[in-house]
Order: sequence, then C-alpha cells, then structure tokens
Amino acid sequence: MPTAFIFHPDHVLHHTGPFHPERPERIQAILSHIEDEKSREPGSPLHDLIHLEPVSADLSWIKTVHEPSYVDAVPGWCRQNLRDLPTGDTTICQESYQAALLTAGAGLAGVDAIIDGRVDNAFCCMRPPGHHAESNRGMGFCIFNNIAIAVRYAQQRHHAERVVIIDWDVHHGNGTQQIFEEDPTVFYISIHQSPHYPFTGLSGECGEGDGEGYTLNMPVAAGAGNEIYINAFKDIVAPAVTRYDPDLVFLSAGFDAHCDDPLSGTTVTEEGFADMMQIVMDLADVLCESRLVSFLEGGYDLNALAQCVTEHIIMLTE
Ligand SMILES: [Zn+2]
Repeated sequence: MPTAFIFHPDHVLHHTGPFHPERPERIQAILSHIEDEKSREPGSPLHDLIHLEPVSADLSWIKTVHEPSYVDAVPGWCRQNLRDLPTGDTTICQESYQAALLTAGAGLAGVDAIIDGRVDNAFCCMRPPGHHAESNRGMGFCIFNNIAIAVRYAQQRHHAERVVIIDWDVHHGNGTQQIFEEDPTVFYISIHQSPHYPFTGLSGECGEGDGEGYTLNMPVAAGAGNEIYINAFKDIVAPAVTRYDPDLVFLSAGFDAHCDDPLSGTTVTEEGFADMMQIVMDLADVLCESRLVSFLEGGYDLNALAQCVTEHIIMLTE
C-alpha cells in the first residue's frame, strides 16, 4: 500500500544547541538509516515511499487548536532570540517559527494525501515535536501541537467525524489531552511512564464534560517493557478503539520508551514497537480503510530512533 513520507530539510532551522536531546541529528540519523537500508536491500519497500514536501501550515489551521494570542506571539519570541519559549521548557532560535510552521504543515499534507486517495497512510518525519503543546502554551520541546492541528484539519476540511489519537511516546501528551478533553469526536489514548514529565495523565483523567470517557490514560511504571505495553494494546487499546469506530487513526509515534533512550526508564525494544504498530495497523485496516497518519514525537537515542522509525515505515508500506 502506498505510504507518504513527509519531510522538509528546513527542520534544521530549529536548532537547539549541541547538548539538547531534541536536535536536528535525530532526523538526519533516520534519513541515513533509511538510505542504508535501501542500498542494502534493492527490493525494500522503502524504495516505493511517496515523498512529499510540506508547505507551512496556514495560521488559520494552527488557530483551530491554539489561542490566537499564543500563535501570534511565537514569531516575536523567535525573532528576539530568546533561548526558550517563555511558556515552557522549549529551546528556540530565530528560525524555529519557520520550522514549526512546516512541521504543522506536514500533518496537513499527510491528511490531504490520505483523504484524496493518493496514499493509505503517512509518516511525518519532522521536528519540533508537538504533543506537549497546549492551546495557550508550548512546552516540553514542542511549539505547536502538530497532531491536534491535523486532526482539526481532517474534521473541518475533510469532514472526518470521529478520530482516535494513539500516543505511545514515553511522556504523556498533556497538550493533546487538554486540547480535546471536552470533545467526544476525538478519542485520545496515551500509554506513558508515570510518574514522569509532564506529571499528567493519571488513569483518573478521562475527559471533561461532553468529552468524559473519550480520554484514556494508561500510566506505566519505570521498568515497564514489551509485555506490559503489548498487553495494554491487546487488552485495552484494541477493544476501546474498535468500540469507538473512528474514521481516521492518528498516532503520536515517539520512540523514547525504548530501553536505550536517555530520557526514560521504560524498556521497550524494536520488537515491542513493531508489535504495537501491528495492532494499530490492524485496527486501521478493519475500521477505517487503513487510514493512518503517524507523527514523529520523541526518541533521543539516535541508533534506537533510526532503527525503530525505519521499521515503523516499512510496516506502514506492508
Ligand atoms: Zn517523549
């Protein structure tokens, strides 16, 4: 099945300094591992990826999930060359805004390609990541909430009615949860290490108002590995998503739950991520004609990240 690989070289505009874990080398490691695989395997499905280059997201789409006052303040903060966003621990530089607009645009390109029938699924290989960004503040290395913007775009531009967001990044996606917590048309599901940054995502947080029951948090302790993760996907995620019956599946694919990752205490391996991905893909196949948009979130061990993402993309093509 055709898979879109969405990438723009200007992600490097968002430079965060030599000692920051969320750095341009993350994407470069992924790209070079994919190229190595392609030269080693002439028959690899990686040769068949449909490469799409995003354009900057229109501000009107970003403002469907972020408060206009926050969105309008970001370019000024970048121009002032502050070291960090004043709203949270996110290193910025003068050109971070441009990279953030392109990264948000990647999600829109993925949704368009899927809804237009050009591809079945898409991987957005961009940075900065997004799932910590709340409606009125960036934080946790995130400026705009890329996946949330793409969800609203799918709903408002393409009339998707119900979507599910599955988030297996080791950190809870507080931003995505906050943006959709009162909305029953977006089912947010997260498995994450707890207690751990950003210290949200307790199992009792299950949505507010009309959205009650449409947030599902599965905190796991440090040390949790493949068995706990895969059982959660089999026993909890799969039945919940099946009951919800979404039109589209969105995935916050962070790979920082990996055993080699410096920012986590969980012990998921390449095989664990592949097993979770198989469950997610089976759900998308059965429920929504395989329509799946996957977003790179965290993942800070360059070798583990490059291997996991390459396998993730190969699975998308199968
Ligand atoms: Zn993370």
